[in-house]
Amino acid sequence: MHQSGRKPKLLTDYAPPAYLIDEVELDVALDPKAARVASKLKLRPNPDLVAGARRLALDGEGLSLQSVALDGIRLSREDYALKEGSLSIASVPAKPFTLEIVTLCDPEANTALSGLYRSNGTYCTQCEPEGFRRITYFIDRPDVLAVFTVRIEADRVGAPVLLSNGNLIAQGEIEGTGRHFAVWHDPFPKPSYLFALVGGDLACVSDSFTTASGRKVALNIYVEHGKEDRCAWAMDSLKRAMRWDEERFGREYDLDMFNIVAVSDFNMGAMENKGLNIFNDKLVLARPDTASDADYASIESVIAHEYFHNWTGNRVTCRDWFQLCLKEGLTVFRDEEFTADTRLGPVQRVVDVRLLKTHQFPEDAGPLAHPVRPASYIEINNFYTSTVYEKGAELCRMLQTLLGRDGFRKGLDLYFERHDGQAVTVEDFVAAMAHASGRDLSQFMLWYTQAGTPELACSLDYDVHAKTARLAVSQVVPPTPGQTKKEPMLIPLKVGLIGANGDELPLKLDDDTPLAGGLLEVTQREQVFEFRDVPSPPTPSLLRGFSAPVRLTTSLDPGQIEFLMLHDSDPFNRWQAAQTYALTLLTAAARGKGDRARVTDKAAARLGQSLGATASDAALLPAYRAEFLKLPSESDIARELGRSVDTDAVHTARETLRAAIGNAIREELAGLYERAAPSGPYSSDPESAGRRALRSAALDLLVGTGEPAELARAERHYREAANMTDAIAALAILSHLESPARDRALDDFYARWQEEPLVLDKWFAVQARAARPDSVETVQTLLSHPKFSLKNPNRIRALIGSFAQANPTGFNRADGGGYRLLADQALEIDRFNPHLAARLLGAFESWRILEPHRQARAKAVLEDLAARTLSTDSYEIVTKTLAAG
Ligand SMILES: [Zn+2]
Repeated sequence: MHQSGRKPKLLTDYAPPAYLIDEVELDVALDPKAARVASKLKLRPNPDLVAGARRLALDGEGLSLQSVALDGIRLSREDYALKEGSLSIASVPAKPFTLEIVTLCDPEANTALSGLYRSNGTYCTQCEPEGFRRITYFIDRPDVLAVFTVRIEADRVGAPVLLSNGNLIAQGEIEGTGRHFAVWHDPFPKPSYLFALVGGDLACVSDSFTTASGRKVALNIYVEHGKEDRCAWAMDSLKRAMRWDEERFGREYDLDMFNIVAVSDFNMGAMENKGLNIFNDKLVLARPDTASDADYASIESVIAHEYFHNWTGNRVTCRDWFQLCLKEGLTVFRDEEFTADTRLGPVQRVVDVRLLKTHQFPEDAGPLAHPVRPASYIEINNFYTSTVYEKGAELCRMLQTLLGRDGFRKGLDLYFERHDGQAVTVEDFVAAMAHASGRDLSQFMLWYTQAGTPELACSLDYDVHAKTARLAVSQVVPPTPGQTKKEPMLIPLKVGLIGANGDELPLKLDDDTPLAGGLLEVTQREQVFEFRDVPSPPTPSLLRGFSAPVRLTTSLDPGQIEFLMLHDSDPFNRWQAAQTYALTLLTAAARGKGDRARVTDKAAARLGQSLGATASDAALLPAYRAEFLKLPSESDIARELGRSVDTDAVHTARETLRAAIGNAIREELAGLYERAAPSGPYSSDPESAGRRALRSAALDLLVGTGEPAELARAERHYREAANMTDAIAALAILSHLESPARDRALDDFYARWQEEPLVLDKWFAVQARAARPDSVETVQTLLSHPKFSLKNPNRIRALIGSFAQANPTGFNRADGGGYRLLADQALEIDRFNPHLAARLLGAFESWRILEPHRQARAKAVLEDLAARTLSTDSYEIVTKTLAAG
């Protein structure tokens, strides 16, 4: 690939396709080195366009063209032009016509894992966003929707299972050849990115689901032989997701069959191909001894997410890739709601916001900042970002907050009614919401077009004579690359006023009607809300439930924050108050030097007592209580500092606070630890999982004291663990230490799990994350471990990804060794899997918030990278990361 000619694609350049494809018949003969794809396309000129161009251009990459025929007549070499990236035919009829194309591709040589490839002997496909063009020549864009009929043939022994989208309509043997075939038909028109095909020797776990209207759907999960006993949780999650989508959003499944295939080499988490979801096996396989509670939670949410795409993404799809948030933001929102409704309740909001702040806030504040709907890109693969997904979900949540749950549902119903079977835009979605609710949402559209996290400042003044409380609010959207001037946004701000005894005070603005749900709408740069009849000085609880993805600053003093930590009736804000209190101590300590880089014992003890009180409150959900014992992460602290970050000082500050809290409430923590001990066999229910989380969080603080007895407790926790959750929690706590107990546990874990790839990934990841002075060398050594392989994306993410993204002290080591390591590995990976390399390089996004010395080291490595030959994917990330000032 060349550095030149990488021009960005622009949203404003969108033009409808000149031709439409109504029907596709694919005949795929699977072969490891030369898969033959015969495609028959029924095309017609796009009736929405005035007749003009008669030239047809099809996308294609890495294909070997065998023949082209137009309306049954084979074209000669002069009739078409072939160049890398496209096949064009100069003159096609101005009426419907048929095109037949035969190509070959090489699944085994496909290391980019886009298009048709093999994973552990299984043929599988990944077509989103632009992989279908690596299977056959096509108009490979999401606004061309066709009905697909797919015949697959393959060796009967090597690939007894043959799957594609839709329903199975025929199958049989091909006499005397040892080969067999299957024919699949998908009645729903779909874009090529939703095409999928699988061929392999796989085991199948089956079940069924009866829809609300009484239709029986066959459910199948295909996995490697011997893994059948690890599918129960995924199947259970799928059935619950199907039911929930009927009940909450009135959406039923529409085919006779729903298939899921788990493969071990996959660039992403999972893919929502119509009727045939393909999954990274990490997000399907679970058994209590091999998967942790965190794995169970990811499996549940991703199974649900991909299923929910059947309506939000598949039945109604995106007009172009700039609209990616239309399907992703909405579907993430739906999967978050599913988990909240059926499992975690208010804890879900804590989990979601933590994820948003960890990944999306740094993206929004760094050189790769882009709007939820980007206006330009060089490589669309780089836009599967936290901004598109997680911030995109926040936008849907804000719409629901503004319109109410019923209003949002009405809007979504209208969206489906208007656009079923279409490829649409963000404007179409927001228009449905606006029409169904009768609201003008034009200001809200800025959330899709303006990048950056709005900064919201609030201060409250109480007038003791007038009994009024004035809430002054101001908003600023910071400049981001390419966007210097920003307009004020419509920000839903949920508030409460809390009296001295902890009661909620009534919220009355100008008239006597109480403010519904405490929802204020901030629309201007500066705004004042005056509450009347406030009997006594209140403590404001602001941005309840994290009602908008903004950075909030308030005039609250430490006493008020402590009060909220104990009394706020909003569960999210109560947790947020604890985090804010801890962050105040941690940032002050991290800014200090030497002895000042410490948290005072007095402040820590005070925080510890509040945290301990909440964590011990048996009236609260165990999972919620556990969240209070998790201190802000090092990346939370770095983000809060915002500039001149010394990652060692951040680490020291956090370790000091951890030890001080552990010492201050050691007995209480030990009591919690004992009381949360398991009483029966493993169960994945939220109560049991919450107790395990609470127990691990207490253990972490106890071990932080450095007391030998606590270290012994951690080792015992590991040894006595009856499930993966407990084992990996203890291993993670021990992994940071310099102790024979650490080595014993790591050796034991390896000996036990070396033949289980997904579990062995945890062994690599836990060492890559360990905050130790020698972590660069540890990762370096593990790169040559016999079980490490660059061919498996999960293993790469476990070792290199965990190091770069979840080990701030190791990655940002002052000598630059961490940066060098990542750059070297990414360069190597970039040669065969650019998509994965570019994602790893995203770890450099926050280099400008570091102190000058580390900045210089990071910059030198980035400049060196920019001078190399890079894929388009990596080139875009590296140059953008360097460019923005
Ligand atoms: Zn998705």
